[in-house]
Amino acid sequence: MEKEAIDLVNHGEDLYVKVPRGTVVKDVKTGKILADLSEENQTELILPGGRGGKGNSHFATSTRQAPRFAQDGEKGIELEVILELKLLADVGLVGFPNVGKSTFLSIVTSATPKIADYHFTTITPNLGVAKTEYGDSFVIADIPGIIEGASEGVGLGLEFLRHIERTRLLLHFIDVSGAEGRNPVEDFYVIQKELKKYNEKLSKRKQIIVANKIDAMQDETLYKELEKVAKKENMEIFKISAVSREGVNDLMKHIAEVLKELPKEDLVEIEDKIVYTLKDEKEFEVEVNKNEFIVTGPAIERLMRRVNIQDRESMHYLQKSLASIGVDDELRRLGIKEGDTVKILDWQFEWYN
Ligand code: GDP
Ligand code: MG
Repeated sequence: MEKEAIDLVNHGEDLYVKVPRGTVVKDVKTGKILADLSEENQTELILPGGRGGKGNSHFATSTRQAPRFAQDGEKGIELEVILELKLLADVGLVGFPNVGKSTFLSIVTSATPKIADYHFTTITPNLGVAKTEYGDSFVIADIPGIIEGASEGVGLGLEFLRHIERTRLLLHFIDVSGAEGRNPVEDFYVIQKELKKYNEKLSKRKQIIVANKIDAMQDETLYKELEKVAKKENMEIFKISAVSREGVNDLMKHIAEVLKELPKEDLVEIEDKIVYTLKDEKEFEVEVNKNEFIVTGPAIERLMRRVNIQDRESMHYLQKSLASIGVDDELRRLGIKEGDTVKILDWQFEWYN
């Protein structure tokens, strides 16, 4: 009998939300990270539901054949979350627009990013898997070009920085051809400043400077200046041409070596993982005001949501429940006498011993 009754209880369906790998779940209110779904097929419980409602059948025992009430389901906890997709790539390409990042990705991987001779061509991040001649492989992400003010949300900047967060190594691309009249040293520091403004940790990520477009270099002046900066900042520098492919192989071999040394740790820290649970039923408080006993608390509110005060059987259930969570004992301990008033939310009851 009991088992049959339980089988008839209507359970709310669990809600599964499928998200791409690399999705981070954040609480809107607190901004805290609740889960980081970066593993293959990872499942995380974000929010447990409220206790379910019970239909009449639950009370259909042999002693109470015709139940007159049903319980409503309890409200679950509400939580608003942001699902943020962050790429998981080993290597991120950073640098001003038009420095050759997309060209590089297209020659070292089978990705086919848009390549064009104007700024802001890359709108969505492109991922590619690169393989070295020794069989090492790693994922490279070519991400929308950074511009000055990116950390304040100008242009595609913030979007770009958000993705960069999850790479282990940054290749900082700089055009040393001088063809666009840019100053490589200035460009280098602008990007560093943006990385730092967005996230202090990001600016400490391992970086390799890639001096690109050496095929179009008029002279070595710009490159030499950049080399000095690399020395000063204690960074490695590689000269390449993404078009003629000069220096590309050496760079790729080096990246594979560097990646072997870099930890594959989780780059997003979960800030005290919050698990939302329903509180203990025993939570209630009694305030005494002369002959009035005011009972409040989450357990009481939950209980009152489940009963229908107009109904005799429901009232019976309420009395039993109040006793079982310890309200009666507490009232007696506080010296309640026959005829005193018990206030529970909007209702008043008279106490009988
Ligand atoms: P991104 O904005 O950094 O992704 O730059 P792109 O890869 O779209 O390249 C911008 C322009 O620079 C394109 O016209 C490319 O053909 C050109 N470019 C890229 N790499 C080289 C290079 O090594 N040498 C020369 N001469 N041009 C290059
Ligand atoms: Mg591009």
